[in-house]
Amino acid sequence: MATIIDGKKVSIELLKELQKKTDKLQKKPSIAVILANNDDASRIYVNSKEKQANILGYKSMVYKFEKTVKQEELIELINKLNNDSNVNAILLQLPLFNHLNENELIELINPIKDVDGFHPLNTGKLYSNLNPFAVCCTPKGIIKLLDYYKIDITGKNTLVIGRSNIVGKPMAALLTNRDATVTLAHSKSENLKEITKTKDIIISATGCPKLIKKDMVKQNSVIIDVGIVKQNNGKLMGDVDFENVKDKVSYITPVPGGVGPMTIACLMENTYELFLKQN
Ligand code: NAD
Repeated sequence: MATIIDGKKVSIELLKELQKKTDKLQKKPSIAVILANNDDASRIYVNSKEKQANILGYKSMVYKFEKTVKQEELIELINKLNNDSNVNAILLQLPLFNHLNENELIELINPIKDVDGFHPLNTGKLYSNLNPFAVCCTPKGIIKLLDYYKIDITGKNTLVIGRSNIVGKPMAALLTNRDATVTLAHSKSENLKEITKTKDIIISATGCPKLIKKDMVKQNSVIIDVGIVKQNNGKLMGDVDFENVKDKVSYITPVPGGVGPMTIACLMENTYELFLKQN
């Protein structure tokens, strides 16, 4: 039976450390969140980010927009936030309303305020292993989980499933920087089962419920489930058939309570680190 990786516990420890460090600061870090979509999940994420920032004593501002918002208004807001020395972190909650140009707005954010690490300068630094101002929160949180449980990454045969700019690609880069052998699979990959069966560590970020089944994983491998899909009954479901897979592997993350809490904790850590870099 696998060790269940407790992301909630690890995130609470990380946040406690952050609280201690923040309490020592005279001026507190601040984060501005831009919400320009009607997506329920995004609203829930933004609320929990705001709640956590308030607990830590950060200043947090949320800018909410209706569907009628124009690209120019967001450009103007980002320019204003870039120039405001009281704002340390800018988070553009994705996805945006369809008519908006996401890439243009991400590129406009000052890289030293880019708390999600999505700006091309930060992704470029990540892929070149050159200390980005901030590293994307979910992949960063996953590396912290692996380290916390002392799971070896160096030289391991790892697989990332999903190639989004938010999770899959930066995850593959972080694993590469940590000397893993990395395979990146996606929806066009052929014979996924043949790929998964030989891997020591699998990180799945697809949003396809129960994509990863018991017969697809190697005995004693490590399984990190990033996927979150809300079922009709309101329950959250990951990419992994948790109940069956857990009997075969050595470590596994649950959904919820695995990767999710680490994402928010890392967002808070990134905000704190950007504050330090600017002061
Ligand atoms: P995305 O839709 O941008 O990307 C999904 C990726 O999965 C794509 O690259 C696609 O090629 C791949 N994919 C889809 N079906 C596949 C299949 N059958 N086989 C192999 N690959 C397949 O999504 P994303 O933003 O990267 O998020 C992925 C999942 O992770 C979603 O469920 C999302 O809700 C969740 N997520 C969780 C957290 C967290 O904190 N836990 C953070 C971000 C995203």
